[in-house]
Amino acid sequence: PAIELDGVVKEYLAHGEVVQAVKGVTLTIAEGEFFSLLGPSGCGKTTTMRMIAGFEDPSRGTVRLHGQDVTDVPPNKRDVNMVFQSYALFPHMNVWENVAFGLRRKKVPDAEIKRRVGEMLEIVDLGGREKRRPREMSGGQQQRVALARALVNRPRALLLDEPLGALDLKLRQAMQIELKRIQREVGITFVYVTHDQSEALTMSDRIAVMNDGLVEQLASPREIYERPATAFVAGFIGTSNLISGTVDRVEDGCAVLRLGDDGRVLTEEGAHRAGDTIAVTVRPEKVMISTDEPAAGLSAVRGTVAEVVYLGLYNSYAVRLPGGTEVTVFQQNALDSTSTAERGDAVWLSWRPQHS
Ligand code: ADP
Ligand code: MG
Repeated sequence: PAIELDGVVKEYLAHGEVVQAVKGVTLTIAEGEFFSLLGPSGCGKTTTMRMIAGFEDPSRGTVRLHGQDVTDVPPNKRDVNMVFQSYALFPHMNVWENVAFGLRRKKVPDAEIKRRVGEMLEIVDLGGREKRRPREMSGGQQQRVALARALVNRPRALLLDEPLGALDLKLRQAMQIELKRIQREVGITFVYVTHDQSEALTMSDRIAVMNDGLVEQLASPREIYERPATAFVAGFIGTSNLISGTVDRVEDGCAVLRLGDDGRVLTEEGAHRAGDTIAVTVRPEKVMISTDEPAAGLSAVRGTVAEVVYLGLYNSYAVRLPGGTEVTVFQQNALDSTSTAERGDAVWLSWRPQHS
């Protein structure tokens, strides 16, 4: 593994009180992986990353890089580099000088500097712009200079803290693809911090979803989207419906919730007993709308269509359940779809047990 965190805790003393920014993170990042730390502002992403880089000392726990305990090793002795949202370029130096700076300081021979800087500027697609100053470049270009400057040192891992945060949406999306390409090309481990779920889903091999100083789920983008481990993850990633109720009975490993007079929700998640109050989540695109009663073996609830929004590729329905809960349903507009539910219609909603 490239990076291992073992029970890492970071406490700060703020106004005489102990604040736990990171409450105990254990995770392993593989060599060459594109790994993201994803979560809302203040959940401890930056602090976690700064402990990997060595800018912060953990209050407890161990940091290992490439198999070696580096918990007490200073940042400049760790084989990692960090890229910040603010780029932190030298304004008085041109692109070439900015990228060459680290190699010059390490007294790398001139010919090698020339070769490596030239190579790196090609990789980040800035060949021909060597003489520009940072202020003469767009935000996206400046970020690519910062990337080249970090990568030219050939660190074994690159840490990126919301590096695209200052860019507008279009540029950010283009840079996401670009970053992924660069990572593949240089083949080193990337640890990427973001609060933007679509960014993490687009680029990552695996994602650690953080909340309040802890990792709530660590898995592939697909798994996190399809099988969110907690209600927090389900709510934070994409759109999700939260349906709660009391467990009526457990059948074939499935907890059955009663909803209304004839509704039922089946869930395979967790070990439940009759009488437990639980909440299940289901994605809008996993729910089917029908006028006929759904087959046995599916979750099925009756509701009334409260709202229909036409969104081109699909329709978004808000369906009100007996208890007042509103469920969002996305239904794709097929080539030949003619029958759609309308506002005020009484409908059935159904979905497979493995989807909630
Ligand atoms: P994120 O990057 O996910 O937004 P941070 O790691 O920056 O979160 O911060 C996590 C928590 O730790 C926040 O509540 C923040 O206010 C607190 N924190 C971070 N750095 C310090 C510090 N130097 N002193 C006191 N509290 C801090
Ligand atoms: Mg941060």
